[in-house]
Amino acid sequence: MIEIKEATKVYSNGTVGLNKINTTIKQGDFVVIVGRSGAGKSTLLRAINRLHDITDGEIVINGKSLTKANGKQLREMRRDIGMIFQNFNLIKRNTVLKNVLSGRVAYHSTMRTLLGLWPKADVDLAHDALNRVGIPDKAYVRADELSGGQQQRVSIARALAQEAKIILADEPVASLDPLTTRQVMDDLRRINQELGITMIVNLHFIDIAREYATRIIGLRDGELVFDGPVEDATDEM
Ligand code: ADP
Ligand code: ADP
Repeated sequence: MIEIKEATKVYSNGTVGLNKINTTIKQGDFVVIVGRSGAGKSTLLRAINRLHDITDGEIVINGKSLTKANGKQLREMRRDIGMIFQNFNLIKRNTVLKNVLSGRVAYHSTMRTLLGLWPKADVDLAHDALNRVGIPDKAYVRADELSGGQQQRVSIARALAQEAKIILADEPVASLDPLTTRQVMDDLRRINQELGITMIVNLHFIDIAREYATRIIGLRDGELVFDGPVEDATDEM
């Protein structure tokens, strides 16, 4: 469970990214955060992984305060949280397998991962993850030789290899065509349903949100303007 309590983010230039957001997300939810550009979607997502700090309020994940976590606690909490970005964030020149294995870095010493000394169990996890997203045959291909949709699948596989319990996806389909968009969203839904991984996905488009979400959070100017089941969401968010 993720509890977001009075979360406020004021950037150092004075911009209010989030204003006293309160919400609770249950394990296994498929939440889509909608809102226009600048609404605060990405600010909220980055706060849930503490890629940046909120300036007020608190975020608690499974009973542990993310906001108050020290360095070691934060590293442990982050193992449970996978991230997916619009631009995939892959290391282009590395193989797909190596990119997926990078989801395992939080479990090993830096030296070991730098040298690429992955235990067989990790390699097996990486292959399983590629299997689950339907590209088992791409393991030894360079990441930048794949199509956009395939690259996004690699980043989903990376989160799976990480054994994340929560996946945060910041505009994961914004650079994909409509057909590929559906394929990637279908993957996320399947993973949510089969593995019970909580999905929190930022999207521009309310129609895609309606189709995939079990719950919608609407943001406008850093304020929470909607929080509820898909059926109750209106079109003007
Ligand atoms: P924080 O308050 O979390 O430390 P900063 O204010 O340091 O974040 O911003 C990080 C960087 O993003 C700065 O270089 C800042 O200039 C830049 N930035 C400023 N305005 C925006 C904006 N509207 N969108 C994205 N980045 C911005
Ligand atoms: P969205 O993801 O919904 O497009 P953001 O969370 O990126 O919205 O931005 C929310 C608000 O915070 C906007 O006004 C944006 O310009 C501002 N903002 C985002 N990042 C920064 C930053 N690093 N520094 C200053 N302002 C920022």
